[in-house]
Amino acid sequence: MADPPPGLSGLSTAELTTWFEARGEPAYRARQVVTALWSGGTSTHAGDLTTLPRPLAAALDEAFRWTTVADEAVIASDGGQTEKTLHRLSDGAAIESVLMRYPATSGRRARHTLCISSQAGCAVGCPFCATGELGFERDLTTAEILDQVRSAIGRLHPGERLTNIVFMGMGEPLLNLDRVLESVAALNDSDRLGLGARHITVSTSGVVPGIRRLTALGPQFTLAISIHAGRDALRDVLVPLNRRWPVAEVAAAARDHARKTGRRVSYEVTMIGGVNDTDADADALANLLRGDLAHVNLIPMNPVAHTPWNASPMPVIERFASRIRAAGIPVTIRRNRGVEIGAACGQLAAERAGAPAAPAVAWRRQRLEAASARALRGERSDEPVPVGVEA
Ligand code: SAH
Ligand code: SF4
Repeated sequence: MADPPPGLSGLSTAELTTWFEARGEPAYRARQVVTALWSGGTSTHAGDLTTLPRPLAAALDEAFRWTTVADEAVIASDGGQTEKTLHRLSDGAAIESVLMRYPATSGRRARHTLCISSQAGCAVGCPFCATGELGFERDLTTAEILDQVRSAIGRLHPGERLTNIVFMGMGEPLLNLDRVLESVAALNDSDRLGLGARHITVSTSGVVPGIRRLTALGPQFTLAISIHAGRDALRDVLVPLNRRWPVAEVAAAARDHARKTGRRVSYEVTMIGGVNDTDADADALANLLRGDLAHVNLIPMNPVAHTPWNASPMPVIERFASRIRAAGIPVTIRRNRGVEIGAACGQLAAERAGAPAAPAVAWRRQRLEAASARALRGERSDEPVPVGVEA
């Protein structure tokens, strides 16, 4: 089957201008289209735009797709405050985005945060993550990344606007960095979303060459590191690319990033009961980050079907937080949004992909229990680096 035409939102205004000019059309046509694309309107193709001459709209619809994502399901939770969307792509791959509404409080304006995907599936294979369980399918195109944002804009209520975008959905953004950078530039662009770099966060499991590349570029967005453990033995199991880039190298690259850009780096810890929530783990993390321009976020693990694990109890998380805080590192305990719709990374797509057979699940749980027990004894993993994580 022939490849479908490229998505319109992947084109910069300059590229679109060139396309119109090649047809003898004025440059303002490009801006008309870009404005329509990002207005949150109900258009489904260029033919819906009353501002464009018919033949021109038809040519545009032939050359490009108005959107590259079909919204297959929208599932609300938290009384409508959290909304998860399953987007189907042209080749059948499924990705997810999650819209989180935070109402205004006395000291703070309302926020609307959208969590988006950068890849279909993920090669890193963190065992507590539903996306990791799916394996890697493919990188998303720039248009596919941006069309998740346009889809959310179309679902906002009157008076609402997106205030934050986080690349914390499916996939490892630093293994699709060119497209992620293009998308961030588009989100920054005042003709499109016009969102400031400070309102965009990109999360990585620790792709060191990608972090170094970002440092050389200067601050583009807030960098978040999914650290999960300060000890290599445990991190080898929780974030398998640790076997390629060990935790000290990740922290060194992030430290450098914070120093050179002057921007605080966020560190995420998914808190897994009895696995990475001990005092020794808190102290290992505190020692790793002491003196850095860092902020630690503790997030209770969302249960995922194929693991034997659950969230750490709240008192354990609070104790962990106080040990990090005692080392002078700011720390926040995050509320887990959308637990009942499985709003962690990739859970909905994993459900749609169908549950694996019971013996496969049992075998996987057994292996994980053995691997984490070995890690807790301090033994490094001898499993290979996952295929496809070389940057
Ligand atoms: N691949 C990137 C970005 C996507 S994952 C990364 O790992 O950073 C975004 C965040 O969701 C990560 O911090 C990840 O650890 C977290 N996450 C994945 N599965 C989770 C689960 N079951 N419960 C809580 N957080 C989870
Ligand atoms: Fe990939 Fe991030 Fe999930 Fe790990 S947590 S498998 S890096 S998406």
